[in-house]
Amino acid sequence: MVKLAFIGKTAQGRDIPFLIVNKDKKFDVQAVKNSAKATLLIQACIHPGEPDGKDAGLLLIRDILTKPELLSLLDNVTILFLPMMNPDGHENNSIYNRVFQNGPREKGCRTSAQDLNLNRDFSKADSPEIKSWLKMYHHWNPDFFIDCHVTDGADYQYIITYNFGIFGNMTPGVTRWAKDTYLSFIEKQMKKFSKPISYYVEFNKTSDPESGIISGVWGPMYGDEYVSVTNRPAFLIETHMYKDFRTRVINTYELLKQSIVLLNKESANLKKILRENDEFISSAEFRKQPFSLTFELANDSVMIDFLGYDYRVVKSEISGGDWTIFDNRKPLTLKIPFFNKPVPKSQCIIPEAYIVPVEWIDVIARTRLHGIKMKCLKEDLSITAQMDELSNIVYEDKPFESRIRVQSFDAQEFSDKRKFPKGSVIIETAQPTAPLIAHLFEAKGPVSFLAWGFFNSCFQVKERPENYILEIIARDMIKKNPGLLPELNELKKQNPEFAKDPSAILDWFFNRSEFAAKSLNVYPIGKIYNRQELLDILQFCEE
Ligand SMILES: [Zn+2]
Repeated sequence: MVKLAFIGKTAQGRDIPFLIVNKDKKFDVQAVKNSAKATLLIQACIHPGEPDGKDAGLLLIRDILTKPELLSLLDNVTILFLPMMNPDGHENNSIYNRVFQNGPREKGCRTSAQDLNLNRDFSKADSPEIKSWLKMYHHWNPDFFIDCHVTDGADYQYIITYNFGIFGNMTPGVTRWAKDTYLSFIEKQMKKFSKPISYYVEFNKTSDPESGIISGVWGPMYGDEYVSVTNRPAFLIETHMYKDFRTRVINTYELLKQSIVLLNKESANLKKILRENDEFISSAEFRKQPFSLTFELANDSVMIDFLGYDYRVVKSEISGGDWTIFDNRKPLTLKIPFFNKPVPKSQCIIPEAYIVPVEWIDVIARTRLHGIKMKCLKEDLSITAQMDELSNIVYEDKPFESRIRVQSFDAQEFSDKRKFPKGSVIIETAQPTAPLIAHLFEAKGPVSFLAWGFFNSCFQVKERPENYILEIIARDMIKKNPGLLPELNELKKQNPEFAKDPSAILDWFFNRSEFAAKSLNVYPIGKIYNRQELLDILQFCEE
C-alpha cells in the first residue's frame, strides 16, 4: 500500500523521497486524481533542523498500515508524503545547528546546499528542489497540504502554533470550509489530546506579549501560502523548540492523524467545494472583482486568552535593548488582543490574459513549472496591449535569497500597439491558477517575477551619448521647444542636488529626446483586458 518514488534531485544530486500511500494500491497519478479519495500532501524537513514531521509522518504511516483499527483511515484518503524536502540540508547536520532547540541532538541545516532557504523559493523557483516540488504539486494537485516545522520565538505553553491561509488567499467558499470544518475540529481534538493550539505567535511589539498577536497574509514565496494561493487549504505546523523532541513528535503525529480522520469523513464534500471554487476562479465573475495582491492589518482585534509563561523584561546593559526573560516557567494566562483582520492593501483587476514575449525564456520555463496553461503565437503578431511604464525604481540595498529585488516604483499603464514575436506566450486567466498568475505577473505583486529581479535588464540605460553630444542635442531641443527651459529651471530650483549634476541634467534632456530607448523602463509583459480582443489573438495561437 506504499510506493516509494522520488520527485527529483537536489543540487548535490541526492534523491528527494516521496511516499504514495493508497489502500487500493493505486499509485498512478491519474488513478489517484480520478478517485473519490481526498489527496493529502504532507511535507517535512524543508527546514531539516526542524525534523518533527519526518518522524511523526513515518510513525503514523507505519501505524495506519500495521494496525487494523487504523487502516480504515485510508478508505477515503490518499497520503503523499515528502519526509525530507531538503536532503542536502538534512545531511549537513551538526550539534551546533538550532542549538537552543530541545532535541534531537544533531540537527540539519536550515538551507539547501546552495544556501537558499527553500521555504522562500516557491514563487521564484531558483532551486532544483523547488522546481521538482512545483512539478510534483501541479502533477498531483493535492486537496490539502500540511507543512511541518519547529519555531523559535517567545516561550509559551502551546506545543503547536499554526499558520493557515484563512485570511484572504483563498476564495470565501474554501476559506469557510477550512475555518469552520477543519480548524474547529483540529482545535477541539488537539485540546483533548494535550494542549490547545494557537495561531502563530508574533507579537505586535517584539518582546511585549501584552501588545498582542498579529496575523497576516504572506506572499506565495512560502510553501503553505503558495498552496493557499492555488486555493487549497494549507496548514503550517510549528511545534515549539523548547518542548522536548518526543512531545513535539507525538503532537505532530496526533495533528496529522486527526487531519486524516477529518479528511476521511469530508473527502467528498471537500472535493466538491474545491471543484466548484476552481470553476468560480476560472469564471468572468471572479475577474470582475478587484484581486488583492497584498494585505495590511486593520487596527481591529479580538481579545483572547493567551497561554503564556510568567516573564519579566530587563534593560540589557550589553545590547541596550529589552531582554525578555522567561525564567520560572510559571503558567500565566494573559488576556491579550489578537489582530486577526487583514484587509486588502494593493489590488488589481486581473486581465483576460498576460502576454510574455518569447525572449523571456527563463520566465516562460518557470511559468510552466507553476502548472499554468499557456498558448504560443504561431507567427509574429501586432497586438494592442496594456503595458506598464515604470519610474522612480528603487532596488533593495542587499541581496535577499540571492536576488537583488525591486523594492518600489511608480507605474503608469499605457496602451501600445507592438509586435510580439512568434513563440510569445499568451496566458489566459480563465483557469484555476488565476490568482497565482496575477501574483507572478502583476508588476506590483510583491513576489512577482519583476519584484525578484527577472526583468532588471529592462530598467537600465544601455546606450547613452557622451555629454559633449548631449550638449548639442539639448540645445537643439530647446530651439524647437523653448518651454523646456523654464521647466528645467523650475526643476533645478526644487532639486538642488539635480541642479549641481551636469550629467543628470543632460540625462533629463536625453530621456525626453527621440533618441532615448523606447523600451527603457517598460515592463515587457502585455495585458489584454478585453475578451473579444483575446479571442482574436487566440486565432493565431497553438497549444
Ligand atoms: Zn521552519
